[in-house]
Amino acid sequence: LAGRVAHLGTTVFSEFSALALKHGAMNLGQGFPDFDGPEAVKEAARKAITDGVNQYAPSPGLRELRVAIAEHGARFHGHTGIDPDTMVTVTSGATEAILCVMLGLVDPGDEVVLFEPFYDSYDANVRFIGARARYVPLRPPDGSHATWWFDRDEVRAAFGPRTRLLVLNSPHNPTGKVFTREELEFLGGLCAEHEVKVLSDEVYEHILFGPARHVRPATLPSLAERTLTVSSAGKSFSLTGWKIGWVIAPPALRDAVQRAHQFVTFATASPLQAASAAALRQPDTYFQELGALYSAKRARLLAGLAEAGLKAYAPEGSYFIIADISGRGFADDVAFCRHLVTEVGVAAIPPSVFYSPEHKHLGQGMARFAFCKTEAVLDEAVRRLKAGL
Ligand code: PMP
Ligand code: GLN
Repeated sequence: LAGRVAHLGTTVFSEFSALALKHGAMNLGQGFPDFDGPEAVKEAARKAITDGVNQYAPSPGLRELRVAIAEHGARFHGHTGIDPDTMVTVTSGATEAILCVMLGLVDPGDEVVLFEPFYDSYDANVRFIGARARYVPLRPPDGSHATWWFDRDEVRAAFGPRTRLLVLNSPHNPTGKVFTREELEFLGGLCAEHEVKVLSDEVYEHILFGPARHVRPATLPSLAERTLTVSSAGKSFSLTGWKIGWVIAPPALRDAVQRAHQFVTFATASPLQAASAAALRQPDTYFQELGALYSAKRARLLAGLAEAGLKAYAPEGSYFIIADISGRGFADDVAFCRHLVTEVGVAAIPPSVFYSPEHKHLGQGMARFAFCKTEAVLDEAVRRLKAGL
């Protein structure tokens, strides 16, 4: 085994989805909807195949999708001035986008700042490229903070002469935190001071609750010229298996990503790119209904977890809920989640896998539940939690 993979096991998502299947558990682990995306978008994919959109797309992506990505950014996030020809690259999911941003901008020995808990591929990719991650923990809501928060001095201390990239993820997986404009302005100031670029992972950009609003970092003056916005069709259109993602960035940064992308995959599935353009052009009612759907599922699972005696942090966005499992007599979150999937029949994800070794203890008193599931599955999961916990 090469050193860059020798330390890696199977991802926690594959592990717990397999366990869920084996034990007939309700799968609130891996974050994929157990329902399909809009019929009109699926029909657009069938039509693209029938119409012969079946050979390689241009490496940066089908132009019609790049135009739709630019229009969508202006329509929903006030992100104007996206030139589809020089500022967009279409990738195989946000996952490839994240790798290509790092390949394009970060050298071995450079440093990348990650908030913890982090989506697990960030840390793996930092290692792949021989860079070093510096970690800043997000802290759960407490007496003086209504939402997940970070200590500004801890962020300042993570920045240094080798820092090249800050990874942001809002709405955040797994905490559901939505970064405020003020927090982003603070981070933007720090990045400007240290000449650091920002990878902004916004795959949950359409899944927000209550008063939370999505602020796209690329629309802030301090971040506009240094931000690479990453998103994908997976979460917004309940089509996670399509793996159509993209990067939006100023031309010089996008050029760095494109140089990597052309040799990582060159291009991604043409008919699904065509259909993703149709997806991004769905009417406003589609996006409103998506928000309403997830608000109802969030409320249902929050109520169910409370009935089962689990204290949970209400997410501001994304489709995950972090529950507090400390004081329930388990050695850690992995032991709790293993017990849950094998004995209670519910799969959840142990969040300690989203922390560096030195901060793992911060995740060991929590479990992550996904609510992108049908009502029947959510209700059965709650019934089992109430009976078996
Ligand atoms: N970023 C975050 C925060 C995610 O939660 C996920 C997947 N669930 C991804 C990126 C990967 O997205 P994709 O499936 O488009 O590769
Ligand atoms: N992003 C999804 C989650 O957090 C899973 C993606 C994956 O399986 N790699 O659950």
